[in-house]
Amino acid sequence: MNYFSTNKQSVKTSFREAVLNGQPPDKGLYFPERIPPLPADFWQNFKRKSKEQIAFETIKPYVGDEIPDEMLLQICLETVNFDFPLVKITENISTLELFHGATLAFKDVGARFMSRCLQYFSRENNEKTIVIVATSGDTGGAVANGFFDVEGIEVVILYPQGKVSRVQELQLTTLGKNISALEVKGTFDDCQTLAKTALADEDLKRKVFLTSANSINVARWLPQQFYYFYALQQWADDENPPVISVPSGNFGNICAGILAHASGLPVSKFIAATNANDVIPNYLQSGKMETKSSVATLSNAMDVGNPSNFVRILEIFDNDFLNIKEKLEAVSVSDECTTRTMRDVFEKYKYILDPHGAVGFYALQKYLEKNPTQKGFFLETAHPVKFDSVENITGTCGAIPEAIEDLFSRPKQSVEIKASYEDLKEILLKKI
Ligand SMILES: *Cc1c(COP(=O)(O)O)cnc(C)c1O
Repeated sequence: MNYFSTNKQSVKTSFREAVLNGQPPDKGLYFPERIPPLPADFWQNFKRKSKEQIAFETIKPYVGDEIPDEMLLQICLETVNFDFPLVKITENISTLELFHGATLAFKDVGARFMSRCLQYFSRENNEKTIVIVATSGDTGGAVANGFFDVEGIEVVILYPQGKVSRVQELQLTTLGKNISALEVKGTFDDCQTLAKTALADEDLKRKVFLTSANSINVARWLPQQFYYFYALQQWADDENPPVISVPSGNFGNICAGILAHASGLPVSKFIAATNANDVIPNYLQSGKMETKSSVATLSNAMDVGNPSNFVRILEIFDNDFLNIKEKLEAVSVSDECTTRTMRDVFEKYKYILDPHGAVGFYALQKYLEKNPTQKGFFLETAHPVKFDSVENITGTCGAIPEAIEDLFSRPKQSVEIKASYEDLKEILLKKI
């Protein structure tokens, strides 16, 4: 499979090049040359297939022969080594829990897959690989964990001091080994600027292979299709496909679902559930794309003013606005509604939502009120224990998972730095 750039200026590349480059030189996004339809025999024994088998069969056309089958199957096995249960909450609403992985968020899937692809592809380079990533919370933990102890790869994480949750900070700072956490005295934007400066530093790039584990990398984006299939394995009503509500920020997750649908996964409707950052809901109303600066909300992993993956959704639909509107709805949910939903759902059903899942629940509930014959599920994108607000709102964040309890006993290891590139470069040079 070859990949072209959505900006159409850069030359086509292989899967390998797309993974190693991350982003095409013209600053578009890599997109597969064609969307491979699932073969008819994919559906035979579908409900009895193992997770790794489904993962392998769906990703194989996108990888082609660039990773040998045996290795690709092994990568799939290690990527989906946890559960993805579909849990019923009300008569017509279920939740697909994506928080049973190492760092308790769906990003574990993409991060694990990407780290292993990168390791495979960079084995020929004898130089060291440094992965640099700026995080506002969830990404850093998933990436750090995905790359933990992976040979030949050093990971440098930049996070804004005092602006990530307690659990998120522990996930970033307690691993050690090949993972370094830099606590930046500044904002997330400062962290992102530092990472971008490093990635553009020609002097540095001559000395080391530097890459980013950004969410736009195809190796993080494509495997997010897997769990939509796992949900369908657990969907009881074969006649009526589900409505799927996806809490969305950068739109990578929902775009993977739509890609799976384009290759044959039956879905009745996608709902993009956003918080107050409502660029896409406005776009679907007006047909005009007007990006904005992001505003801070309770569901902070979705505070995105310019959702970068949306161009891929446009690409899937051949830029046909009416086609998009037929398959995709978008709803903006306020913090007030999010809070109320978290309280209501806990009181009525004893289910603890995290703020991102609550946005997904609310948007789905509104849709089903207007479409009462349908049923659906929303993606619970992270475990409630990751967000300090959950306890304040519902009075509890539920049982603390083992993986988290263990974190509290480990020492925090981080280096404080000013938001200055000189300081960062000095640290990077020491790693070579
Ligand atoms: C990253 C993230 C999102 C948003 O996902 P996108 O793919 O950027 O739309 C939603 N919820 C949680 C918990 C996240 O970490």
